[in-house]
Amino acid sequence: MRQILFIIACLVSCTASAKEWLVHSQAQYLEAAKSLRAGDTIILANGEWNDFEVLLTGAGTADKPITLTAETRGQVILTGQSNLRLAGEHLVVSGLVFRDGYSPTNTVISFRRTKGEYANNSRVTEVVIDHFNNPERFEPDSWVMMYGKHNRFDHNHLEGKSNQGVTMAVRLDSAESQENHHRIDHNYFGPRPVLGSNGGETLRIGTSHYSLTDSHTQVENNYFDRCNGEVEIISSKSGKNVFRGNLFYESRGTLTLRHGNGNVVENNVFLGNRVDHTGGIRVINKNQTIRNNYMTGLTGHRFGGALVVMNGVPNSPINRYHQVENSVIENNSVIDSDHIELAAGADDERSAPPISTRFRNNLIHNPDAADSIAVHDDISGIEFSGNVLVGVNAPANTPGFSNESMALEKGSNGLLYPVGSHAGAVRDLKVLDKASTGVAWYPKPGPEVGFDSGKTISVDASVGALSAAVAKASDGDIIELAAGTHVAEQVLVVDKPLSFRSADGGTATIEFERTALFEIADGGSLKLSNLKITGASSMDVAGNTVIRTSRYSMLNNYRLRIENVTVSDLDTNHSFNFFTVAKHTFADRIDIRGSVFSNITGHVLQLDKESDDLGLYNAEYISIVDSKFTGIDGSVASIYRGGTDESTFGPHFELRDSVLDSVGKGKRNKSGASIALLGVQATSIHGNRLSDSQPIRVTLTVGDPVTTIFDNQFNSTEEPQVREL
Ligand code: CA
Repeated sequence: MRQILFIIACLVSCTASAKEWLVHSQAQYLEAAKSLRAGDTIILANGEWNDFEVLLTGAGTADKPITLTAETRGQVILTGQSNLRLAGEHLVVSGLVFRDGYSPTNTVISFRRTKGEYANNSRVTEVVIDHFNNPERFEPDSWVMMYGKHNRFDHNHLEGKSNQGVTMAVRLDSAESQENHHRIDHNYFGPRPVLGSNGGETLRIGTSHYSLTDSHTQVENNYFDRCNGEVEIISSKSGKNVFRGNLFYESRGTLTLRHGNGNVVENNVFLGNRVDHTGGIRVINKNQTIRNNYMTGLTGHRFGGALVVMNGVPNSPINRYHQVENSVIENNSVIDSDHIELAAGADDERSAPPISTRFRNNLIHNPDAADSIAVHDDISGIEFSGNVLVGVNAPANTPGFSNESMALEKGSNGLLYPVGSHAGAVRDLKVLDKASTGVAWYPKPGPEVGFDSGKTISVDASVGALSAAVAKASDGDIIELAAGTHVAEQVLVVDKPLSFRSADGGTATIEFERTALFEIADGGSLKLSNLKITGASSMDVAGNTVIRTSRYSMLNNYRLRIENVTVSDLDTNHSFNFFTVAKHTFADRIDIRGSVFSNITGHVLQLDKESDDLGLYNAEYISIVDSKFTGIDGSVASIYRGGTDESTFGPHFELRDSVLDSVGKGKRNKSGASIALLGVQATSIHGNRLSDSQPIRVTLTVGDPVTTIFDNQFNSTEEPQVREL
């Protein structure tokens, strides 16, 4: 039967020299794929291919490649435990979509069959990988691994990598994969959420071990859309790579020349739109060229600045920091960006400042940040010339800068140029068109779904009304509660962005009978406003909580917002929290505004479940403003970020204009603190009044944390205790 099917399929277009197979099953694919010859094509029939590990091998030629493609591009969907491996010569794969599953191996697309069997002169184009994530957030894998030589990865769409592991890597771990001359071009690298750990890079080329080897990989005309995984968007760890014509849109982190020499970074555009931690280019090592790049609206600081030239380690081990040497930084435009860092990272270990390096003809414009150029060590090894500053102070005692008051005008490419000067990037710099990247037949994602962006669902106080409303709600909907007391008999599972509020600014009260009222499940976000919540009817067991995350690992980051909410009587038993998270869950934001919490036997925000000291944590931004806490046995916030790794920007914590009265004195509050922060990278505590409470305890561990505590009142409360580990 199988043979007959093949004969029929082959009738579609069989010539003497090249065959074309339209296959409908994995068995048919295996049959067709076992003896492919130059010029042959296998076409996967439209539909879903579940649990399909595709292996394409053979020897095509430049004129007659071996092709694997889709009957219709975008209508061949690989789901479940699927992946793709290529090994051989002149192989081309196109038109496939990977979604609704994840690879059973450590890679979705690999340019090798196994160690020693590589693909060369091969191409993967117009392939989509969409949220194809291992469900365990910290089970690492990568979506694309390039091996071999002279391969091309172009016009692909990679969106939503959210478990640990670099999205795409070029490997140089064998002679067959070095000096590879790969091309990575016109790809759409879609949103990659904050991972909250190292291992969230979007593209890595090489590893420190092989970093003195040249790769010759060209990374051209790719669109990096909100690639926020960690501090490195791109980590170049090999030599002679070229990064040209790429666009970085609202991406947190930098293009980092981490290891390896002789790289070129030119004609790239960085659009930060003043999003927190957006950065540009970080320079380490020798013979690097950074020219004609355009950066605007970048807010990042320290290693995440718009332009960062690092200090090195004398006689550096291969995995630390080689000194910047014989490098050129020229004709770049840095506009409305907050930080340029020279000799960055200078400390006892990184004591070798840049040498024999030129910094010339750059335009640096920022009337709002006169001190945006920071100098951390001796910069006499950098020769400055022809740089134009607008509104920015030159480094002290350093020639090669002129202060001008020139205006900027918009060029035909939409970028800003100084009137009457040629400093900065060229006038005809091409701004990459997003539509020219990825594929035309798969939509690129829009903005995140905001709270209150959907329809309003009204609920009365009858039994089961809340659960029924949640069941029928869609993304962004508002569930509006009539005045009166609503009793939740079931946990309300929120797996999409949802808001709950009282109708007409009234006073709806929610009681709940289980151990939790809300559970934020994967994909969910929760906003509560103008409500009263009481724990008085909840079960009489220890460890209740008003809100919890899923008890299991969550791939999607969530948001929690509490506005004008009164929470009381979380005291049916001990250790009753307001919010409890599970290990391997992550909040993009937790905001509390204008709310009142009283009579609670546990913590308000317990964000300390990543206790393994691996550089992980549970929330990126925690902000509490204009709120009141009275009679809390535990802490208002317990935040833990252990480990010594420097790959994350967060966590960030803010407490402002709030009142804490009798907080933290319960006998089960192990930290002995009203606020317990460990490893937080940015802390701002001001305008608060604390009375009869345990002290604020801040433990600084790693990185260069910024901690500001001022203008607070402490009555019968010890002063804040800040210590460095
Ligand atoms: Ca990293």
